[in-house]
Amino acid sequence: MKQEKKFETESQQLLDLMINSIYSEKEIFLRELLSNASDAIDKYRYLSLTESDKYPTKSHQIRIDVDKKARTISVTDDGIGMSLEDMEKNLGTIAKSGSKEFMSKIKDAKEKDDLSIIGQFGVGFYSAFMVGDSVEVLSKTLGGEAHRFYSEGKSTYTIEDTEFDQDSGTKVIVHLKKDTDDLKYSDYLETYRIENLVKKYSDYIRYPIKMLVTVSKQDRDDEDKPVDGKYHDEIEDKTLNSMIPLWKKSVNDVKQEELDEFYKSKFMDYEKPLLSLNVHVEGLYTYEALLFIPSRVPSNLYSESYEQGLSLYSKGIFIQDHYKDLIPDYLRFVKGLVDSDDFPLNVSREMLQKTPEMAKIAKNIENKIIAELKKTKKNDEEKYLKFFDMFGEHIKYGIYSSYGMKKEELQDLLLFHHLNDEKLISLEDYVKNMKKGQKDIYFATGKTLDEIKTLPQLESKKKDGVDVLLLDKNIDEFCIMAMVEYDKKTFKDVSSEKDEVSKEKKEELDRLASENKRILDNIKEGLSGKVDDVVFSAKLVDSPVCITTKDGISMNAERVINEEPGQKENLKSTKVLEINPDHELFKALADVSSDEQIKDYGSVLYDEAMLLQGYDIEDKAEFVKKLNSLLIKAAKA
Ligand code: ADP
Repeated sequence: MKQEKKFETESQQLLDLMINSIYSEKEIFLRELLSNASDAIDKYRYLSLTESDKYPTKSHQIRIDVDKKARTISVTDDGIGMSLEDMEKNLGTIAKSGSKEFMSKIKDAKEKDDLSIIGQFGVGFYSAFMVGDSVEVLSKTLGGEAHRFYSEGKSTYTIEDTEFDQDSGTKVIVHLKKDTDDLKYSDYLETYRIENLVKKYSDYIRYPIKMLVTVSKQDRDDEDKPVDGKYHDEIEDKTLNSMIPLWKKSVNDVKQEELDEFYKSKFMDYEKPLLSLNVHVEGLYTYEALLFIPSRVPSNLYSESYEQGLSLYSKGIFIQDHYKDLIPDYLRFVKGLVDSDDFPLNVSREMLQKTPEMAKIAKNIENKIIAELKKTKKNDEEKYLKFFDMFGEHIKYGIYSSYGMKKEELQDLLLFHHLNDEKLISLEDYVKNMKKGQKDIYFATGKTLDEIKTLPQLESKKKDGVDVLLLDKNIDEFCIMAMVEYDKKTFKDVSSEKDEVSKEKKEELDRLASENKRILDNIKEGLSGKVDDVVFSAKLVDSPVCITTKDGISMNAERVINEEPGQKENLKSTKVLEINPDHELFKALADVSSDEQIKDYGSVLYDEAMLLQGYDIEDKAEFVKKLNSLLIKAAKA
């Protein structure tokens, strides 16, 4: 029975784009069909290992056939095949994430007219419509019925029963478009063209891609000796690809461009990777891995649709994609594959997760990535800054989420903004530049760099030229807390109440406090419930007050934690109002006789400090009322 169906809207749009693609991009259709064929065989092979009673092992191949008269080029595989439902689901809708990404890029108005980037995406099966005015797909699953999909790339396709002379597999037949004055589609019927395309894009496919080719052979005489000058044509079933997966080739034989191309096609990125590692390890355990760090943040990295993990191969056989246990969470942006003879093949996926080899290889991979990042940081600053800008927070997360256990490995990958310079600084350099006698590593936190830089509690540090790390990312403070110290130097928050002051300074502040007890007590009383203490400060130069916190969580941590979705209990920091004894405002305050008025001053100063430090005033009406009453008094005086 023949059924006519409509493509889903998005597929329709993609098809339209394919049909209008520019000529130079069209050739990738063969790459896409061959990689689908190879995937289908991978799936079959996996089943023949796990369900060997149902799926007999066979030696697979992919065939390319051309028919010059009929102007068709077809790709046939003996892989898993598709059932009727598979055909509808897989060919009637956009399956490939690469296609989806391409669609969203192209919808972006700016790029509407520029389809030249098509070739950089894995646009999949629909790419056949770049060169074909109609496409047929014959397919059959093992023990199932054969079906024929047919479409002219318009809004509909048909599916009907058919005959297909194979146990299982798929044949995609592309009916090439007519040649025009400048578009020679018939080129794709030429052996040399196909051979070149296979070498260029699909050489590493691990199954033989075969094609019948006509070769000119020298005639031989009765004694099997070549006859000079006499040739005849012979048909040869030629394997067009080398079949050696890139990662099985010796490291020196693999060019950077090959790694780049491999990354782009396997991981559907149109940009080459920022970093690539070709790892071959032999010894206690043996494995090969190709690991890549993308040169842009994957668009869905922070959404649930992002599938983290590496592709897993055993003895060159594909087992599964997105294998999570091979890469720690904090390196979730790393893409790649691992192949090891040590992974037992004929076990269930669940068992595989538990092998000790797997854990060791995973640790080794993590170490390789860290080592490569350290190397890059040392040798290629620009590249490392690009990396850190995109993925630096993941490194911090690695320290935080391991409760500091990964500190030793990761701390020297960190970079921070800091007070004394625009450029990011490493902890190592911070420590090198510390002032004589400086014991701690100072840091200041807040929502934005601009906000942090204006914190009053930085004033004395600025005056003394002491550098301070400026932590503007939510994860920063938590990472630092998990580290506790670096190079035996403690991290110290400039917004914490405790201060490193000289003995003389301390005595002076104590004396001031006892002399001005009435003022401090009144302010404290006025701010009861808001601050735990009111003290004189050594942190301030130009500002009258600042708010700091006692041991326990900082105001910044309080903000970050309470912003966290699902955070129920409202965590509170213990605040202290610190007063600058040298400030005019305080000196003026000393002359105010009314206790109530001092309380009002204290309250307004507190709210001002909150504002300046990037926080909201709790009771805005109260603030305005108090401020106005003080203004009136000042105006009258
Ligand atoms: P992708 O291969 O990325 O999923 P495609 O648009 O190329 O995207 O193909 C869609 C789906 O169609 C595939 O996921 C696969 O399930 C199915 N498919 C395509 N070609 C074949 C094939 N040769 N054999 C079996 N299934 C196929």
